[in-house]
Amino acid sequence: MDFTFVTLFPNLVNPYFEDSILLRAKKSGAVRIDCVNPRDFSLDKHKKVDDYKAGGGAGLLMSAQPLWDAFKSIGEEAYFIFPSPAGKSFSQNDAKRLSKKKHIVFVCGRYEGIDERVVETYADEVFSIGDFVLTGGELASLCMCDAISRMVENVLGNEESLLEESFENTLLEAPSFTKPNVCDGLSIPSDFLKGNHAIISGLKNRMAHAKTYFHRPDLYKIVKNKRNYYAK
Ligand code: SAM
Repeated sequence: MDFTFVTLFPNLVNPYFEDSILLRAKKSGAVRIDCVNPRDFSLDKHKKVDDYKAGGGAGLLMSAQPLWDAFKSIGEEAYFIFPSPAGKSFSQNDAKRLSKKKHIVFVCGRYEGIDERVVETYADEVFSIGDFVLTGGELASLCMCDAISRMVENVLGNEESLLEESFENTLLEAPSFTKPNVCDGLSIPSDFLKGNHAIISGLKNRMAHAKTYFHRPDLYKIVKNKRNYYAK
């Protein structure tokens, strides 16, 4: 799968793919990463890529021309995602759905954002990664790219780990434990140590429900409604 980051700061993006799982994915060809810098497409003699807001207001905006031309160089058939605090919330279901695309372009905003005409013309989807404001779209795009890449075939060592993860079946993942069995006087719940997989799986399911009920009552409501729907 191909990912292109349209960014004024490729040095913020590239190092993320120089270690761990995503480096392996890049080396194996499961994902390809590319950065395109709109500054390279600016027709301004000083390579300017920003300007004052029409009608006034604080801060600068990324101008349309360098972005239009950068997009043309990428190919307009790719799927364009614009990170923005004004977008819809990015979720695990979005990551799963988008992992089926061939080529995703993340358009990383800077300054006070991007001339809205660019967003209107090019955005296939606009996503927020939370109700807070970052200095630029690179981190938000990396978060989305990471979550999407994990769903791409041959990226994770053990794809079974995806099946029990948080948000599968709308639940949070059950608490997990590792050795030693007793740590600072705290024991692993004894059922985990008895080797009975049916009991362990039942326990994990109950713990996943309890954890979701406690930490994410909003998700738990969906779980309950689903159950009611199937019970009808
Ligand atoms: N003036 C904009 C506003 O109030 O909505 C904020 C612009 S922000 C300083 C610059 C860029 O960071 C945005 O264009 C976007 O690409 C990115 N960004 C900031 N916060 C984000 C968030 N919560 N989710 C996704 N992208 C975000």
